[in-house]
Amino acid sequence: MQEHLIVLGHGAGDPGGVNKELGLNERDWNRNVLLPALKKYAALLENSKVTFYDITKDMYQQSQLGKGAYTTPKVASVTEIHEDASSNKTATGGHVIISNRFNPDSNDLALANVIKNYAGWWGSVKDKKGVNKRDNLYNLNIYADRGQNYRLLELGFITNDKEIQSLTKNVDSLAKELIQAITGETIGNKPAKPKDPVKPALQKPIKPKLLSATAIRDEVIAGKWGTGQDRINRLNKAGYNAKKVQDDVNKKLLGTSNPKKTNQEVAKEIALGFGGWGDGQTRINKLKATGYNPSVVQALVNKMI
Ligand SMILES: [Zn+2]
Repeated sequence: MQEHLIVLGHGAGDPGGVNKELGLNERDWNRNVLLPALKKYAALLENSKVTFYDITKDMYQQSQLGKGAYTTPKVASVTEIHEDASSNKTATGGHVIISNRFNPDSNDLALANVIKNYAGWWGSVKDKKGVNKRDNLYNLNIYADRGQNYRLLELGFITNDKEIQSLTKNVDSLAKELIQAITGETIGNKPAKPKDPVKPALQKPIKPKLLSATAIRDEVIAGKWGTGQDRINRLNKAGYNAKKVQDDVNKKLLGTSNPKKTNQEVAKEIALGFGGWGDGQTRINKLKATGYNPSVVQALVNKMI
């Protein structure tokens, strides 16, 4: 796994560039604003590792003591982060600095593009893909001598109120893109873990809204529920007690819940004009409703008349 070192510029007694109006300086902005966001995304890396140089120290001062850039372990890259400063409050843009002994690599160019997106490019690097080659920076020369891949970032001007405020506002995505450009690893693009299968919510059987006993009885009498076994099935399926409904129907039509009359007896009643069976469709409906087959009964009636 490739390891990358990030060095936050300045530190210890050196605040670096200062924006008096906003009460900001490079040392503290790097450590208090940028660092937490960088750490957040560094922790999400899977195929590479980012470590941070001791933030209580200023690498420049340490290097002058023969430590700092001289003694960091060999890593895939070192990225030292700064903001620019100018007495001209409108100076704007950032850039990537590398040793003039090398050409920018793909990570340098990716970092320059991140800077371009957040602060734009500083005027002098606009036709150099955002990269400035130098031979007069202390840590840069030490690392070039060591053959250690190193670059220094100027993210933008801390002295430009609008610029540093914008970098602060967008620090989360800025940090994410810096980590990605440094490592070449895309964060958060993993295929989603298979989710736990969703348990179907237990289906509560919906209680059908039932008609009152009287209303369903009258519907049956009116012939809305068909006849015979089909009617029994439909009533039961709809949530009624078919037997109970039939009893109610019989009670209403026959004055008893339990028809004991045979087809023959009913036919006789009809033929003699008893039982209130009526005629025509009314009779058919009543016969059906009370569980008789109107055709059968009618055939018997016809024989009797
Ligand atoms: Zn600086």
